[in-house]
Amino acid sequence: MNETLRFDVLVVGGGLVGSSTALMLARRGLKVGLFERRYCGAQASGVNYGGVRRQGRLAEQLPLAVRARRIWDRLPELVGTDGEFVVSGHLRLARSVADLAALEAYAQMANPFGLDLQLLSGPTFRRRYPWLGAAALGGSLCPGDGHANPRVVSPAFARAARAAGADVREQTAVTNIVYAGERFVVEARHDSGAMIEARADWLVNAAGAWGNTVAGYFGESIPMEPIYPNMWVTEPLPYFIDHNLGVYGGGIYARQVARGNVVIGGGRGSGDGEYAQPLTETTRTVMRAACGLLPRLKDALLLRSWTGVEGSTPDDNPVIGFSRTTPRLLHAFGFSGGGFLLAPGVGQVLSDLVVDGATSTPIDAFSIERFGLARGG
Ligand SMILES: Cc1cc2nc3c(=O)[nH]c(=O)nc-3n(C[C@H](O)[C@H](O)[C@H](O)COP(=O)(O)OP(=O)(O)OC[C@H]3O[C@@H](n4cnc5c(N)ncnc54)[C@H](O)[C@@H]3O)c2cc1C
Repeated sequence: MNETLRFDVLVVGGGLVGSSTALMLARRGLKVGLFERRYCGAQASGVNYGGVRRQGRLAEQLPLAVRARRIWDRLPELVGTDGEFVVSGHLRLARSVADLAALEAYAQMANPFGLDLQLLSGPTFRRRYPWLGAAALGGSLCPGDGHANPRVVSPAFARAARAAGADVREQTAVTNIVYAGERFVVEARHDSGAMIEARADWLVNAAGAWGNTVAGYFGESIPMEPIYPNMWVTEPLPYFIDHNLGVYGGGIYARQVARGNVVIGGGRGSGDGEYAQPLTETTRTVMRAACGLLPRLKDALLLRSWTGVEGSTPDDNPVIGFSRTTPRLLHAFGFSGGGFLLAPGVGQVLSDLVVDGATSTPIDAFSIERFGLARGG
């Protein structure tokens, strides 16, 4: 062993979930280590669409989403950058009368959580959004939602965690973990070949799409599949899209950044669980549908397309909370395409669990228990 380390809490994975957890714990005075096998924020957390959106989430995610959303207002003070976070509002479009009815039902469910959803249709909608195509019949606006630049936000959380005292190690892959009575013994390998042994009282599994490898050390891997959301960006266009846009039922989302580029997502790319690539055919099909909603995109030049690897669970909810096999092991993975907004809130919740032993945010729906017996490990 080239180095032996000792922590109160060791976080595995330097995506936004792991980095925000390390930051929150370090700010509460704990000795925190974070091991990231590549670079912090280089996986899903740094390549996602950038939607900071509560609207459209499952009911059980709303309390956590609301808590997380409050943190986004404090990014400059917390991580030293606003991360290009814009409170643009999120407009969820309806393409049929049935969609409009579903948006109305969703608003009734979600508004008690403080989302302030406003339904728009008919001539009012048309007058307010002359740049939307005939395919959009109406929509639901969540004024407090927005979007941000994941490439800026995610590494900033890791830098802030380091500045707060966490020992953040990149190019450091966790290769084995055992729970040895009172504490975790973690083996890791730096890209240089150096071997590290770390002992920690608590372990946080924030390994994203690879969370099952860590959960598997403790006999509790879950049914999770990798997904590869397909994304692309246009050349800069004159500014016209006021909001972060989505559609009821999913499948198309778009936002325009201050420089004028329109970031669009929809459909899936392909991958092997480790690496991923966008699919031209997906981009072409979704872009055609997007032009029905946003006719001004018709002649736009596409500059780049990409995707990333994300872990998706059967019920689209993440696993957040205590292990059922091992004391002081916390899981936070499987965010199923929706972890960007949530991650800062997840960091706070996990720091509550470590420091206070409980959290005021309801997380029972995210328990690993819901998957029943372990599928090996
Ligand atoms: C293309 C795309 C678009 C998306 N769009 C949105 C969106 O608009 N809004 C939204 O809310 N969500 C979105 N998501 C989902 C969101 O990005 C994820 O839910 C979130 O980033 C998950 O964060 P994470 O920290 O769990 O995972 P990650 O960012 O993947 O971080 C996990 C980290 O663990 C590391 N790791 C794994 N195994 C080990 C090991 N053995 N040792 C050390 N390190 C390890 C990995 O290298 C990785 O850096 C999107 C995802 C993708 C891929």
